[in-house]
Amino acid sequence: MGKGTGSFGKRRNKTHTLCVRCGRRSFHLQKSRCSACGFPSSRVRKYNWSVKAIRRKTTGTGRMRYLRHLPSQIQEQFQRRDSSSSKEEGSCSLCLRRSRAVAGMTWGT
Ligand SMILES: [Zn+2]
Repeated sequence: MGKGTGSFGKRRNKTHTLCVRCGRRSFHLQKSRCSACGFPSSRVRKYNWSVKAIRRKTTGTGRMRYLRHLPSQIQEQFQRRDSSSSKEEGSCSLCLRRSRAVAGMTWGT
């Protein structure tokens, strides 16, 4: 049997399994290291020779749970300093607008 079609049927061992950090099936079982993100190393694996791969996993490709709200928060801080009028606090203007819309829908009808 050669390296071709016949031997493909005999392949049954997985070298990589799902990675906990990046979710790709790139976690090497024997090396216990992810070939895509470098888990368990604390820094995410990236190389400058692969510009497209960096582009796929930089800031802005995910949910940006924290960073998404920062610009509006800073803007609200400035507005508060200027007018010092009491407004709704806590979340950004986008979230407030969304919550108001939801409240209007539930109470209006
Ligand atoms: Zn990974």
